[in-house]
Amino acid sequence: MLNIVTQWIILLAAHSSLMSCRGICEDYRATKTRGLGRYASGQKRCQICDLFIMCDGNVCPCCGYRLRTKPRGQKYKQRIRAAAGAAP
Ligand SMILES: [Zn+2]
Ligand SMILES: [Zn+2]
Repeated sequence: MLNIVTQWIILLAAHSSLMSCRGICEDYRATKTRGLGRYASGQKRCQICDLFIMCDGNVCPCCGYRLRTKPRGQKYKQRIRAAAGAAP
């Protein structure tokens, strides 16, 4: 008979295998872009696989985690604000 700790470890292992990189993302790996930003050219970021992916859906075809489609951080906003401020 399994004790509770063993059952918990098995559950944890099963769960983590659902949300981990299986190497499939290598087939979807996006190439570097020139000029346009990665997000602007339709590439999406997977936080689990830690790479940019080119695919139609919003979910990673490799790990099943939701893909990031927009850049985060203040730099982009600051650039817009600076451009607006520089205009006459
Ligand atoms: Zn992956
Ligand atoms: Zn992924």
